[in-house]
Amino acid sequence: MHPNTKAIRTQVNKTDEMEHSVPIFLTSSFCFDTSEEMRAAFADETDDNIYSRFSNPNVQEFTDKIVALEGAEAGYATASGMSAVFGSFMALLKSGDHLLSCRALFGSTHNIVTKYLSKYGIEYSYVDASANIDEWKKNIKPNTRMIYVESPTNPGLEILDIKALADLAHKHNVILNVDNCFATPFGQLPISLGADLVVHSATKWLDGQGRVLGGVIVGKKELIKEIYLFCRNTGPALSPFNAWILSKSLETLDVRMERHASNATWIVEQLKDHKKISSVKYPFLSSHPQFEIAKKQMLNGGGLFCFELKGGLEAGKKFLDSLKMLSMTANLGDTRSIASHPASTTHAKLTEEERQAVAITPGLIRISVGLEHREDILKDITQALDNI
Ligand SMILES: *Cc1c(COP(=O)(O)O)cnc(C)c1O
Repeated sequence: MHPNTKAIRTQVNKTDEMEHSVPIFLTSSFCFDTSEEMRAAFADETDDNIYSRFSNPNVQEFTDKIVALEGAEAGYATASGMSAVFGSFMALLKSGDHLLSCRALFGSTHNIVTKYLSKYGIEYSYVDASANIDEWKKNIKPNTRMIYVESPTNPGLEILDIKALADLAHKHNVILNVDNCFATPFGQLPISLGADLVVHSATKWLDGQGRVLGGVIVGKKELIKEIYLFCRNTGPALSPFNAWILSKSLETLDVRMERHASNATWIVEQLKDHKKISSVKYPFLSSHPQFEIAKKQMLNGGGLFCFELKGGLEAGKKFLDSLKMLSMTANLGDTRSIASHPASTTHAKLTEEERQAVAITPGLIRISVGLEHREDILKDITQALDNI
């Protein structure tokens, strides 16, 4: 079956009611007919549901779909993207281990890496997302256990060569863990490029309508088993209700991503020579510094692009205040287009130097392109640019 068919047809078995749409299994636990069946379930001899912190039909359906879409062996869904990231670290890293990560990271991931891992004796080093593979190689230590990257990165949209990183990781017996939130499995397949694990914030494009939080980790069976046991005991389980929403969302992910990407591609073309803008960055724009890598590993350019305002910080704030339709909100990956100005908001606490190191310039604007008509999105952006 094609991926879009799998995303639509993977389904919990019908109940006796013969429903067409999957019901929501809002139950904390599951019953057994006999003590023997219950014993066998607890002994892992069957995969019967026991308790929704361990497994639940809706959560399993969502997980099965992502496993199929990402081409993974197994998966576990979590309450948020951050619990997926944290679970993938804590289940597989131990005191004395070293994590090698790209410097440009989602804010809370950066906080876990720099503020919390050290509490458990786990070291880290950062490599710039734009560095070549030799730089990564130089930073591998005897105790390096995992390489962690986002590609495209947030918000600078830098592209890392996943295949090259996978080859490097495997040469050194290191796990490659990729946050595939920005691209989605319809934009990029890290496992096919050699990644061992893929994490997602399902809150973004996977839901795609800004309704629920969710996360998921997929990858090699033996790694997922460790993550499952860690999560089963520590409790970041995804709610069945959210899983139901997310599973339904996946049925339209392919068509949504196609439109998000085609809208973004068209808008970027119209804006790239605008007089108030010094540069536009989009993975599939030939001026992107890692355009060749993007073309090689991505199936489309995705729904996010950014541009640099000539007027810097003040122009950034003025731009946001001048928007009439685009939303000013701390999210991305929605049917509604969203604009953000990292230097005055999400990354305002960083020093100028720290911002530069992760490609955040004072006038950087990030646009998450929605599903509104592309002309309306462009019209709002250009009228706000005119107003600066
Ligand atoms: C949002 C996001 C996360 C965190 O996900 P939540 O669902 O908000 O916990 C992790 N990585 C990336 C790239 C994100 O954009």
